[in-house]
Amino acid sequence: MTQPTVRITKKGVERWKAGHPWIYAADVEAPPKGLEGGEVVRVEDGRGWFLGQAFFSKESKIVLRWLAWDDTPVDAAFFRERLSRAEAMRRAAYPGQTAYRVVHGEADLLPGLVVDRFGDFLSVQLLHKGTERRKELIADLLTELFHPKAIVNRSDTNVRRHEGLEPEKGLLRGDAPGAITYREGDVELEADLLQGQKTGAFLDQRDNHVMASAYGAGESLDCFSYVGGFALQLARKAAKVTAVEISEAACGQLRENAKRNGLSNVEVITANAFDYLRDTLDEGKRFDTIVLDPPSFAKNKGAVEAAVRGYKEINLRAMQLLKPGGTLITASCTFHVDEERFEELLDAAAADSKRRVQLLEKRGAGMDHPVLLGLRETRYLKCFVLRVL
Ligand code: SAH
Repeated sequence: MTQPTVRITKKGVERWKAGHPWIYAADVEAPPKGLEGGEVVRVEDGRGWFLGQAFFSKESKIVLRWLAWDDTPVDAAFFRERLSRAEAMRRAAYPGQTAYRVVHGEADLLPGLVVDRFGDFLSVQLLHKGTERRKELIADLLTELFHPKAIVNRSDTNVRRHEGLEPEKGLLRGDAPGAITYREGDVELEADLLQGQKTGAFLDQRDNHVMASAYGAGESLDCFSYVGGFALQLARKAAKVTAVEISEAACGQLRENAKRNGLSNVEVITANAFDYLRDTLDEGKRFDTIVLDPPSFAKNKGAVEAAVRGYKEINLRAMQLLKPGGTLITASCTFHVDEERFEELLDAAAADSKRRVQLLEKRGAGMDHPVLLGLRETRYLKCFVLRVL
């Protein structure tokens, strides 16, 4: 069977040659008929010169996702090699660790695939038809590489709708694992890979969780705690940690996690963190350390201004709530609010708080979430460490 071919425009060729991994519909010449989406196509310029291979998408605005510059067969051996290379980088970066992101999509040259490892279990996202149609192959290769007890499919995300796919959740291999445990530094965490948020937990903050333990002091506050990634690290050093989280399920899991680590100094409050910050300020309570790690406030460009206002509000309140010399660890996972914008809104919050604030550290996600140069979408997480004077 001959491989289907897709020709791209001059502008598309420029993007392709510049290494941009996505080619949009406007840069594709006469889209080929009869393709379903998910095929690996030959990519050519307007004169028929071969450029490489890509995943084809029928429904999405992103029609081509780069796979190779050459005509090497995109088969089991191809994916085995890409998976092994991704895993080799993590093994070198995190010797002895068993909780990390194994595959970070495009940034690991595996577009549309996310694989998180939690000890003996894997949690996978298949984000377009290219990976959805190869899910058995991917599960086989992951089994070969990791011998996991189970592979959970957490493709229950709305981004699949842009690709003509329904969100889906279930098991690719093995039985429902229930609550599983994994380690981050000296803390053991329990998460439910099937019922938890995203792939079960937020591994992108793992290195920042561990970093935060150095700042646990006196009275600490962790807002948007989920299952306690930050709160428990703080609790190892602080006299008391208050964790504020809106989800009942996450609060229950957090309490279990505190017990599991023998930490009796964690108070878990089920509340809206916006309200908690405002009310606590009014009550006159003050903290030595505060962590803010909210969910994304803007899924698209249109929502950026509202997101900036939200970030500014919580950061302003946190700055006001800190004792002199206190630490603010503040994160944003909103791609559309970039690092510069985040710093600007923190400047504005500092000015309004009438406090002087030092920026000690600008961090991002860990090395297991690499950034692909040329694809800014792979760089989304900001985590700043501030000292409020
Ligand atoms: N800090 C966590 C991840 C946070 S994800 C970690 O490092 O692992 C964001 C969390 O905020 C989710 O658990 C979500 O349930 C919670 N959340 C969303 N809106 C909230 C609100 N208004 N107040 C408190 N928690 C909220």
